[in-house]
Amino acid sequence: MFPGTEWRAAPAGPTGRPRLYLTFDDGPIPEETPWVLEQLAAYQAPATFFCVGDNLARHPEIARAARAAGHRLGNHTQHHRSAWNTPRAEYLAGVAACEALLGYEGGRVGGQELGGEGKRVKGQELGVEGRRVGGQGGTASEQRAPTLTHLPSYPHLTHLPSYPQPLKLFRPPYGRLTWPVLRALRAQQYRVIMWSLLTRDYDASLAPERALRLTLAATRPGDIMVLHDSRKASRSLRFLLPRLLAHYSELGYEFRTL
Ligand SMILES: [Zn+2]
Repeated sequence: MFPGTEWRAAPAGPTGRPRLYLTFDDGPIPEETPWVLEQLAAYQAPATFFCVGDNLARHPEIARAARAAGHRLGNHTQHHRSAWNTPRAEYLAGVAACEALLGYEGGRVGGQELGGEGKRVKGQELGVEGRRVGGQGGTASEQRAPTLTHLPSYPHLTHLPSYPQPLKLFRPPYGRLTWPVLRALRAQQYRVIMWSLLTRDYDASLAPERALRLTLAATRPGDIMVLHDSRKASRSLRFLLPRLLAHYSELGYEFRTL
């Protein structure tokens, strides 16, 4: 598909057990994320959280708790803007700001400042091809991006603890990328994680029971599954997550981070 982006992961572990990769976008927030952590703990299921920097800045203690529990945190930009209508330098600055809050090398890689070119080039837009349960229906409408026009600094915050090994995960808001942004991210050694299955937990027009049926029917080993620890997705998330964990645990699946 797009060179350098990841849409699926290993379908099985060394023991041959099938694997699933749960991901949670848009948190951390106190209304949803601690509940998600409880559900995951009940099944000892590690997962990957693609965090919005604005939320990390407000709730670093939740992010620390997630890490302490063995989950992995990834970058979902500072303000959840779309790469399609944000100037490239500004977009990459938002990636760097979020990364700084995540505590990896202060948002710098190889000594190169992100977003420093100041040149605004409208890049070619990339489509989004991951599967979505139940095919038809509207486009993915996640939370609206906040309207901040500058990057705030958070000097009062202590950085979150870093991983011992460099590991930078990035997922673009709305799944939108441009070629120049993707090239810049790859040059900065980000793993760009997309998905193979959307549960549509963000879709208020889809009954949670139906979202579950569609998800169960569509899930395959190795799927990277998208859920949201956001208020907007709460109703479906709270229906789906315990049932997915129970169902796939019973089937012998392993849950892994990316
Ligand atoms: Zn998002």
